[in-house]
Amino acid sequence: MFDVHQIRKDFPILSRLVNGNPLVYFDNAATSQTPQQVIDSIVDYYHRYNSNIHRGVHSLSQQATDAYEDARKKVQAHFNIKKPEEIIFTSGTTHSINLVASGYAKTVKPGDHLLVSAMEHHSNIVPWQLLCQKTGAILKVIPMNPEGSLEVEKIDTLLSPKTKVVFIGHVSNAIGTIQPIEYIIEKAHSHGVEVLVDGAQAAPHIQVDLQKLDADYYTASAHKMCGPTGIGILFGKKEFLEELPPYQGGGEMISEVTFEKSSYADLPHKFEAGTPNVAGAIAFGAAIDYLNNVGYENFVPYEEELLGYASNVLRTIDGITVYGDLIDKTPVISFNIDQLHPYDIGSILDQQGIAVRTGHHCAQPIMDFYHIPGTIRASFSFYNTKQEIDRMFGALKKAIKMLK
Ligand SMILES: *Cc1c(COP(=O)(O)O)cnc(C)c1O
Repeated sequence: MFDVHQIRKDFPILSRLVNGNPLVYFDNAATSQTPQQVIDSIVDYYHRYNSNIHRGVHSLSQQATDAYEDARKKVQAHFNIKKPEEIIFTSGTTHSINLVASGYAKTVKPGDHLLVSAMEHHSNIVPWQLLCQKTGAILKVIPMNPEGSLEVEKIDTLLSPKTKVVFIGHVSNAIGTIQPIEYIIEKAHSHGVEVLVDGAQAAPHIQVDLQKLDADYYTASAHKMCGPTGIGILFGKKEFLEELPPYQGGGEMISEVTFEKSSYADLPHKFEAGTPNVAGAIAFGAAIDYLNNVGYENFVPYEEELLGYASNVLRTIDGITVYGDLIDKTPVISFNIDQLHPYDIGSILDQQGIAVRTGHHCAQPIMDFYHIPGTIRASFSFYNTKQEIDRMFGALKKAIKMLK
């Protein structure tokens, strides 16, 4: 049985006051909160075995190395990845995408096409634009429709012998759309084109099986999965990672260095130059354990229930527009109320202890599509409650009264 009140006890931050009111945290799509078990894993690391990894002969270094590599195995099991060396620890999704995009400078030629969707996070646009500037490649876009889904049938005309790589968000962070990536991956592969999937928003809400999905690259950020900031992963199929040139040079990523030439270490170390975020990786492992102990099969239906409840409650507000209201989506509601500015509403909610995000959510192309500067985004997690949604509803009504 899923008991939200029991779960909430694991999250110390949920019992704090903000501006004199109990915190209602609805900004989970930006960063999720951290359970005590994950916090403990960080404290335990610094209390007992803080040490540099992979090079020490002493016990602490060996313990730290084991815990770090253990975290990699947890990631491997969680995403059902074939080989541990297909997992690179990065600082997060942004780092992961930049690592891949910069590597493609080696193979992409002037006039080649890179295919993106109209609903990407800036992290999955800008690194590829930099690649275009460097190589003379051209960015092509799978368009979206007003309902908030992709016009995915257009992919047939967009894919061509010139297409080098497709990169697509599994879930839109701005409006929550779950994209038909299985279909997109299959289409791309039938043209012999590689696919990178930005999984930052999907991994917290969908149990992703990477062998089944068959994406060539996949990214995730721990801080959106109840883990700490500054750690994430790049999954890449071994044959692609082996071809990709290193992203950074330094210690730990080489097997031999002379002043004439260096040879690179085997995967995954080739892409983990320097001292990695050891505590972060270990805590990411603890977060994965936490999510699996609660169980996706238990918390996902509860999150869907919260989303359904919030949609019904918010729909009764006069003048509300919900973007991507009828689509298959994660627990995110992105909306505007008449011409009221999202920032003003967000500030009034904050005064009452309610944290939502306002603005373009690092996805300006979606905002441009709807001809709006931004939205108010309430994003839920399994530790939220219907009572909290009721509080937001009350606060919104108050805000409307004050602003109109
Ligand atoms: C958060 C997010 C990113 C960026 O992740 P970082 O952890 O900030 O690097 C990229 N894409 C999507 C869809 C996101 O939600």
